[in-house]
Amino acid sequence: MTKKITIFTVLTIFAVVISVLALPGLRSIADSRNKETAYEFSVDGEKWFIVSDKEKLDDLLQEYKEEYLQNIDKNALVKRLDLQSKTEIISVEVKPEEINSWEEVKTKIYAKENQATIIEVQKGDNLWNIAKANEISIEELEGLNPEINPEKIYPGDKLVVKPFKPVLDVIIELENTVVQSIPFKVTQEKDNGMYRNQKKTIKEGTEGEKEVTYSIILTNGYQASLDIIDEKILKEPVNAVVKIGTKTTVSRGGSVNYGVVQGKRISSSFGSRIHPITGKRSYHDGVDIAATHGNGVYAYSNGRVVSAGYNGGYGNNIVVDHGNGLKTRYAHLSVISVKAGQKVETGQRIGSVGSTGTSTGSHLHFEVIKNKKTVNPLNYI
Ligand SMILES: [Zn+2]
Repeated sequence: MTKKITIFTVLTIFAVVISVLALPGLRSIADSRNKETAYEFSVDGEKWFIVSDKEKLDDLLQEYKEEYLQNIDKNALVKRLDLQSKTEIISVEVKPEEINSWEEVKTKIYAKENQATIIEVQKGDNLWNIAKANEISIEELEGLNPEINPEKIYPGDKLVVKPFKPVLDVIIELENTVVQSIPFKVTQEKDNGMYRNQKKTIKEGTEGEKEVTYSIILTNGYQASLDIIDEKILKEPVNAVVKIGTKTTVSRGGSVNYGVVQGKRISSSFGSRIHPITGKRSYHDGVDIAATHGNGVYAYSNGRVVSAGYNGGYGNNIVVDHGNGLKTRYAHLSVISVKAGQKVETGQRIGSVGSTGTSTGSHLHFEVIKNKKTVNPLNYI
């Protein structure tokens, strides 16, 4: 009897021990039946989410990156399109409930650190004071707004002053080759047989052409760097030759008499330029002549003042109609000395050189409009 009980007890204890030992094993077998292979996405070593379909995740990430190619010239060569952070996709075994929904995944991928700050141009604003007020440089401001023409910003225009910042930064490396124009110069020939203020164009100038290859890096669609890596001249410019009465070529400290102003040099020439990132063409409708603040600005020839006042990026500016479809514009003036409707004569002082409107220094923007189209002023002065 005692012996039987003892055996029974031993067997019972044995069974209990076995079952206790076996239970976790059985549980894990049951668990692994519920687990499935999934993919864990991490950014800089930090786990972000788990998805069931790796290919679909790859497609989503590609789609996200490609959104940043939207405003880029279709002809540009995309050499790199990457996330800036180090990302990893690894295979994991997880329970179904650990897998994130595609909605959650998209929300995480497209998360923003901050929206872009956009300001509206007010009356009297120019790129110079907007850049200063927002503590950025003019170059940065132009980089954030590649579509703008600095001399043509008007009240109501919207400008980005602080870029949009996503959580997942996208780096793009581009190479783009565009044809840019080469401005021509004016060669002045002194002629003592000609009267003072008399000028005669002997030969009209024509612009040249060059093929420029740019290497560009963009962060989240905004220009981070832009370098010229190759330049090939397709057509040399032909300089204009102007004969000028000797008495008018007053040379004061290396300054040049451009007729409409006594200036130092042409600081920006007339013509169009193709933006290396957007591939869009922008125009500089006149020539910028660097000149001392306060220097006289003179009417190109006889005519009537069409407008005289402040106008957006041009600042204080005057437009004179000379008849026969010819008009001239004088911009960024510090002083306007004429009124709309007033008659002016060749060489009459109409204002003073300044730096109003979009201007980084004292200069005259001189524009010639022939039959409602701007033409190269260097063929006229
Ligand atoms: Zn200009």
